[in-house]
Amino acid sequence: MQDYFGKNSDSLKDKKLFLFDMDGTIYMDNDIFDGTLDLLDYIDSIGGKYVFITNNSSKSVDAYIQKVRNMGIKANELNFYTSTQASAAYLKKNYPDQLVFAMGTKSFLDELGKLGIKYTTEATDKAKVILMGYDNELNYEKLTNICKMLTFYDLPYIATNPDLVCPVSFGYVPDCGSVATIIKNATGKYPIFIGKPEPTMIEFVMDSLGYSKQETVVLGDRIYTDIASGLNAGVCTILVLSGEATLKTLEEESRQPTFVYENVRVLVDDLKR
Ligand SMILES: [Mg+2]
Repeated sequence: MQDYFGKNSDSLKDKKLFLFDMDGTIYMDNDIFDGTLDLLDYIDSIGGKYVFITNNSSKSVDAYIQKVRNMGIKANELNFYTSTQASAAYLKKNYPDQLVFAMGTKSFLDELGKLGIKYTTEATDKAKVILMGYDNELNYEKLTNICKMLTFYDLPYIATNPDLVCPVSFGYVPDCGSVATIIKNATGKYPIFIGKPEPTMIEFVMDSLGYSKQETVVLGDRIYTDIASGLNAGVCTILVLSGEATLKTLEEESRQPTFVYENVRVLVDDLKR
């Protein structure tokens, strides 16, 4: 096997746990990429496992299952791990039973509730920690409330993901990391981020499914989140050039993926050759 630059990638034949980014890696918006279904079938055929690891906290796992099933992907809740789940696990561990001031989409808030997190969206001195998700239902009232919380109370402040932008069909819209900057300009406070590039989500999935670092590979289209999370977790990484990263951004980056493939079609054809 050979990657985009001709580097020997035979070691990919030994991988069993494939941790996928979604947007820009296996689909764009609602359009599945050519090669995605073949790659997932290949993973099934070798007795492997695929999990979609997403920083996007605006959608629930149920919404993701529906979305990928509509594209013909076989998936259930065990095939997903989101930054909302990771943030809930972080809150339970570090702030057990504390009331959380949460800002995010309705779907995000519902998911937090299902995961056993007590939350409020009102500015109140009863909350003990602040959690911000990627909120594509954001309005000025929500921004004002979180600024009030950060100004009046010196609380721990976490956010689901540091992504600056989220890819959509026409280009990009601002993501959680950009909103964090708006809020920092107003309050001087900046959150601790939970999702990629932190290794937390990858480590959790490897541990819970019982795979070693050697058996695991992370695939994504972004260097500063997907690839960085794999590097931080000490596992093999594949950058695909079907989303955000280009050959130019790759050249400018100090963090380099283990392998580079043009897209999942080229990768699966190489794996099956
Ligand atoms: Mg992506």
